[in-house]
Amino acid sequence: MSDSERNEENGARPGRMAGGRFLLALLGAGAAGAAGGLVAWGLDQASTRALAGFWVPTGPRLLAWYPGVGAACGATVGTLSMLFAPRAGREATAEDEGTSRHHRALSVFAWSLLLVYLLPVLERAELVGLRIGGPAVGIAGAAVALVGFGLWALVLRAVGGAVCGPLLAAVAVCAGLVANRTVVASPFAPAALLLDAALCAAALLAAYASRSRGGRIALATAGALLLTASAGLHLVRRGASPETVHDPAPDVLLLVVDTLRADVFEEVLRSSPEGEAFRRAFGPASRFPSTVAAAPWTAPSMASIHTGLYPREHGLVRSSRHRDLAAFTHLSQEVPTLAEGMARAGWDTAAVVANPVLHRDSGIARGFEHYEVLAGPTVKLPLLTALARLRLVTPRFYQPAPRVRAALRSYLDARRSDRPLFLWLHWMDPHDPLFEHDLPDSPADGGAEATALQRLYRREVRFVLAEMARTIELLDERGLWRDAVVVLVSDHGEMLPSDGRDKRLYGKLYGHGHALYDELVRVPLLIRTPETTADAERAQLVHHTDLHDTILDLAGVPETAVPRIGRDRVSLASRLRTSSAGIEEPARQRRLALSEATHRGPAQRALRTAEWKLIDHLEGDARDELYAVGEDPEEVSDLSASETEMLAALRRRLDELWNGLDDPPFTSDAVLDPATRRQLEALGYL
Ligand SMILES: [Zn+2]
Repeated sequence: MSDSERNEENGARPGRMAGGRFLLALLGAGAAGAAGGLVAWGLDQASTRALAGFWVPTGPRLLAWYPGVGAACGATVGTLSMLFAPRAGREATAEDEGTSRHHRALSVFAWSLLLVYLLPVLERAELVGLRIGGPAVGIAGAAVALVGFGLWALVLRAVGGAVCGPLLAAVAVCAGLVANRTVVASPFAPAALLLDAALCAAALLAAYASRSRGGRIALATAGALLLTASAGLHLVRRGASPETVHDPAPDVLLLVVDTLRADVFEEVLRSSPEGEAFRRAFGPASRFPSTVAAAPWTAPSMASIHTGLYPREHGLVRSSRHRDLAAFTHLSQEVPTLAEGMARAGWDTAAVVANPVLHRDSGIARGFEHYEVLAGPTVKLPLLTALARLRLVTPRFYQPAPRVRAALRSYLDARRSDRPLFLWLHWMDPHDPLFEHDLPDSPADGGAEATALQRLYRREVRFVLAEMARTIELLDERGLWRDAVVVLVSDHGEMLPSDGRDKRLYGKLYGHGHALYDELVRVPLLIRTPETTADAERAQLVHHTDLHDTILDLAGVPETAVPRIGRDRVSLASRLRTSSAGIEEPARQRRLALSEATHRGPAQRALRTAEWKLIDHLEGDARDELYAVGEDPEEVSDLSASETEMLAALRRRLDELWNGLDDPPFTSDAVLDPATRRQLEALGYL
């Protein structure tokens, strides 16, 4: 073998390499990178299993992700390694060159492993603006590799073998610590401190060994392991610890649209320009189409959202049997509210509500430092509606959506605080009486077969969604949107005159409060967290009472600070925490959802499962109703006569659930000031 042939074989420079061998070296580097990615996956599995007790669920996408990114990084690093490798000295022996080749292979492996993790860490630190997943990952991986390896090669060239070991050790320790601080929201948790100690020990060992070339390889591997361990912990914490994900604490927005039916909301969202504007402004969200209201009217439903208790437990119900003022209950002082908890945990608390039923004395205002009820003229409702229909007047007993935005703007202008904000906004526009708005026609208006009221209702929904999009823009301008936890929900739906329903309405074709069919108790629910990157539909059964714990968990308020008290409670937080790696923590699923109607007409209660709904008439002579809501979402066919076993089983479960609930710390001595009383009279509540 001649000298030039030997140089050809051992040389590190691609300029001297034949094209075929260069390609082979590149393939080798890619394969080493892919192997690094697979090892990273194994380390993730092991650390997640050890620390959190479950395996990372691995679908085909995730299984392709690790080696894919590893291979992309490996190929890039391999190319650079050949370009940057130091020129062989005159005294270099064949043995040295062989070592150099091993060195290169190992460092490609180590760097690939490291880069697979560097990417999520950088993304978490918002140094790169990409979302993990898709072809962008390969490109970004290559870009990160380019910068990282370029810097490393420069350091190697500048300082030489003897000094670069300790220097790189210091760099590795810093990188590990920074990564740890970036990904672990609670840096003084015992696990984080333990990890830090391990990082330092590993790096010191590596530095000790780094006087030789082999030591530098060990160092590179140690650096990769540091970040691996750190990122593994990151995955675990993200999946398993709802208390410490957000640092700093997020703003929390509770957006409520009064009287918003889930089916109409979904259709308007899909097929109107206002729906599109709303979706654009709102951004990606998790949608829960099977969300059940606690009651078909405002006060008990909102109290359930704010306490996590059923109306039967919190006691904010008014029975139709007691139409006198004293029976208009308010929320007992003994029932803690969400706003009280948030205030205690360090949030500013503010509410702008356009429904006068949510007056200060209702008890729902408790815990809000700023509580603004927007009310309109106190005119008896039927007269107002009649005059409005005749277009003689356009007065309202509630204030329209633009006033909510104006009130919010004033509050935000006056606010001098850098604490996180818990904000509740409550719009009234789809509530009766309905008003015409200056909007172009849309398929979302219901077409030719829609009645005048159905059309008006849908246009009110379009109007409020357009206004909400503007409100979201205002919140975004003030830095209160992108990193906020957002929950959008309605308190109940609305019954509109339609075929097939009229016979069951107790003489009431239009409105709410009097029945428990799905047009009244199936409500929209959208949840958005800073981690939400794509729309998702979640089929599970959800209830108003779930939102209290969900909001506290998503805000990162630990149970030690605000105890959760509901008897039948489910938090959605862990399910919303599905990380980019697909971790989904096992959580309790709700199987039963209870709704109560005690306001207008005979009292009733309803129990809903994923497939069935039982309506139990507590008063009056109507017999129980049973619907297979899974197959018959319109609740047209009452199966109570034919499905007697199902009826009996559901009745048993309803009684079990009902009897297991605590009695409310009931106080029925609400003292209303004259102005509030006039407001409630105007609304038809008194
Ligand atoms: Zn309402």
